[in-house]
Amino acid sequence: TKMIYFFGDGKAEGNAKMKDLLGGKGANLAEMTSIGVPVPPGFTISTEVCSAFYENKRSYPAGFASELKEHLGSLEKLMGKKLGDANDPLLVSVRSGAAISMPGMMDTILNLGLNDQATVGLGEKTGNPRFAWDAYRRFIQMFSNVAMGMKGEVFEAILEKIKADKKVELDTELDADDLQKVVTEYKKAYKKHMKSDFPQDPVEQLQKAIDAVFGSWMNDRAIHYRKLNNITGLLGTAVNVQSMVFGNFGDDSGTGVCFSRDPSTGKKVFYGEFLMNAQGEDVVAGIRTPEKLSSLKKRNAAVYDELEAIKDKLENHYHDMQDIEFTIQQGKLFLLQTRNGKRTGPAAVKIAVDMVAEKMITEEEAIGRVSPDQLDQLFHPGIDPKMKKSLSPLAKGLNASPGAATGQIVFSAEDAEAWAKDGKKVLLVRKETSPEDIGGMVAAQGVLTSTGGMTSHAAVVARGMGKPCVAGCKSVVVSGKAMSVDGKKFKEGAYLSIDGSTGEVFEGELELVSPKITKDLATFLGWADKVRLSAKREGIAGVGFQVRTNADQPADAKVARKFGAEGIGLCRTEHMFFDEGKLEIFQEMIISETAEARADALKKLLPLQKKDFKGIFTAMEGLPVTIRLLDPPLHEFVPKTAAEVKELAAKLGIKPAQLKAKAEALKELNPMLGHRGCRLGITYPEIYDMQVEAIMTAACEVQKSGKKVHPEIMIPLIGTVKELQMLRANAEAVIEKVLSQKKMKVDYKIGTMIEIPRAALTADKVAASADFFSFGTNDLTQMTFGYSRDDIGSFIGDYLDQGVLPRDPFQSLDTEGVGQLVSMGVEKGRSVKGDLKMGICGEHGGDPDSIDFCYRTGLNYVSCSPYRVPIARLAAAQAVA
Ligand code: ADP
Ligand code: MG
Ligand code: MG
Repeated sequence: TKMIYFFGDGKAEGNAKMKDLLGGKGANLAEMTSIGVPVPPGFTISTEVCSAFYENKRSYPAGFASELKEHLGSLEKLMGKKLGDANDPLLVSVRSGAAISMPGMMDTILNLGLNDQATVGLGEKTGNPRFAWDAYRRFIQMFSNVAMGMKGEVFEAILEKIKADKKVELDTELDADDLQKVVTEYKKAYKKHMKSDFPQDPVEQLQKAIDAVFGSWMNDRAIHYRKLNNITGLLGTAVNVQSMVFGNFGDDSGTGVCFSRDPSTGKKVFYGEFLMNAQGEDVVAGIRTPEKLSSLKKRNAAVYDELEAIKDKLENHYHDMQDIEFTIQQGKLFLLQTRNGKRTGPAAVKIAVDMVAEKMITEEEAIGRVSPDQLDQLFHPGIDPKMKKSLSPLAKGLNASPGAATGQIVFSAEDAEAWAKDGKKVLLVRKETSPEDIGGMVAAQGVLTSTGGMTSHAAVVARGMGKPCVAGCKSVVVSGKAMSVDGKKFKEGAYLSIDGSTGEVFEGELELVSPKITKDLATFLGWADKVRLSAKREGIAGVGFQVRTNADQPADAKVARKFGAEGIGLCRTEHMFFDEGKLEIFQEMIISETAEARADALKKLLPLQKKDFKGIFTAMEGLPVTIRLLDPPLHEFVPKTAAEVKELAAKLGIKPAQLKAKAEALKELNPMLGHRGCRLGITYPEIYDMQVEAIMTAACEVQKSGKKVHPEIMIPLIGTVKELQMLRANAEAVIEKVLSQKKMKVDYKIGTMIEIPRAALTADKVAASADFFSFGTNDLTQMTFGYSRDDIGSFIGDYLDQGVLPRDPFQSLDTEGVGQLVSMGVEKGRSVKGDLKMGICGEHGGDPDSIDFCYRTGLNYVSCSPYRVPIARLAAAQAVA
């Protein structure tokens, strides 16, 4: 099979569709070449070679060497130059690039092909010896670092020393002689560390560089990035060998990055940064502060216009916002990379909505342009605007990634991780971040850097994570474990707040507030709903895939409804008992010695529960409300400390010892597998009777006021159909009593949770007594794995690190195992009752991957926490689409 693909001179063997084989960078270099964008010629070694390299213990497939030689020959012919030529050498870059872009994760080597002789030749040929020595010293540093694993600091120290000796600050202030001195020192350092001379043979250089790019596929940073972003199933990285163009040729040359729209806000403005007389990573490295694209217009209007036209051409070609790398060599423009640009959540929504209006994409395509995680960012907190008015910022930097964060400052990634582990909220403050800091960025609430632009590492990575970030905040001076702003000192642990949407930094811990739904967002979610609600599935009654919410209080229900919830999938009644006033009566009920005493307490509880339910029914007017009868073990409600026991005993007029004895009696060794859920309903039927009476009287009263109600009474923790039969009969008796007293009809259902494996295994039997199923996947996961969800913290970290589990099964549904029980429940249930309504109410109802599974398994709805509802609406639409 073909291993290497050529691009150059308007023709290419690859194209944009070949990302899996050529990597994103290679595929787009080929595509740009074919559509007439000026791209320096080169060739791409496929990802298949990378995968073969690892399969064959890091050696190349047969025929690789000759194919490489052949392509190098074609490139040399096209360029009219030879690699390593003493008079007019061809120089190339060796660039990595996998199918999914991993910014900064793998390393690039520039100016390859230079040696002592070729450098002199290049200087003479171009009449620019300074440039030649600059290129050589960059090459030695990159090659030694990337290909040979030497520390970059060794070289930085040498360069700093030579600059200090000459009393200059910038690299650009060094002349040819200085740079030649730098090269001599670099080579010495190389020899000292590597115990051999710097390789002068360009073919050897090239081979070592290719080895290094393939090697970098398995470096810790790359592995960590893939793990963090759940990137699996790639063959490897491709290697792009491309002829060099030089942004460091002089003041008429430069290099930059630009975006076809603003990646932070999504606004349709041409946006970017560049540096004159600079090469490669200089712009993102934050060494010199880059200039805005608008000043390129002043420097060279023709080049600016050409770049702008190419930007439009690329956006129209790819139908998406482009992130573009360019270099100008002596006033001539070259494109070095284009890809669909990473963007913030707000930008993703705005771009999707704008592009539909511009007829660039369809509504259905737009739905796929925003990930649930990006949408989540729109629901990130900001600083309370009322509070903000009265504040003046301590400092201002770039608004690198939106959202506000507040926390204690720390100055290293390790500290951020350690403090976060102790439950502290931290802000990571750095001069600039590097890929080693990723773990710390994940652990921090937000990131603040003192140097670097909008395309610096910190900015790009934070935007990708949806983490608030203020970058390039120049007045912040970091030194050791402290920072200062205009002379004012802040030590580690001090509280600061940042607003990544404005770039402001504030002193102290500020109040954060949640955002509102904007017009664009409403439009976008409307499209998602259209797709989601028109879903038809064979063999499944009803149309659409719905999103409900888990809410116990009217206020939560209202929020969820505003966010688009189509009902309540889980109302936990026990949460209602924790309110002041109710808890005491409930405790009185629990410790009652006689059935009469218990009945008395329940009578007092009845009107209070009824009030709770009326509030919920009113808030959810017209929508179904699933109410779960009491679920947790009773001992959770009795006082624990001696002082609490004493206080409650006094209130109830009993002896503390008596109360303590009762509490002791309720203790269980394994409460989650103990006396809870429907088991309570069987042993204390009067508790469930009270709850059902409260639900139904509330329903009657709300209905009487002219509002539609649809109560769904849900019995938890069923393991055998007998439990459900008995409790259903009890409930029906109460319901009949209430309805005949009120002389009313109410549209109600009685169903059950499927959360014990036995219930799923016997779902056909259970279904006979149920009007609906709701999969309680928290307990189902707990009982299927046999992991106590409250104790999983002690080992889940090791399990994930050692690859025992791919993901925490309480966060993302284990489709392979637990999922089988869900599927079985669905199938068996529907085999008895074709129109049985089914949903999920575990935490998984808000997880996009789990939502996809729920749709494919045939559930009618998912239910999740109120703030997750919009994310679930999008994930549901993407599952359907
Ligand atoms: P990354 O994937 O980290 O962005 P790249 O392969 O894009 O790495 O290269 C890093 C930098 O080197 C980019 O700024 C790019 O523009 C520059 N570069 C790569 N190849 C060339 C080349 N042939 N000529 C000039 N600059 C190049
Ligand atoms: Mg790049
Ligand atoms: Mg449960």
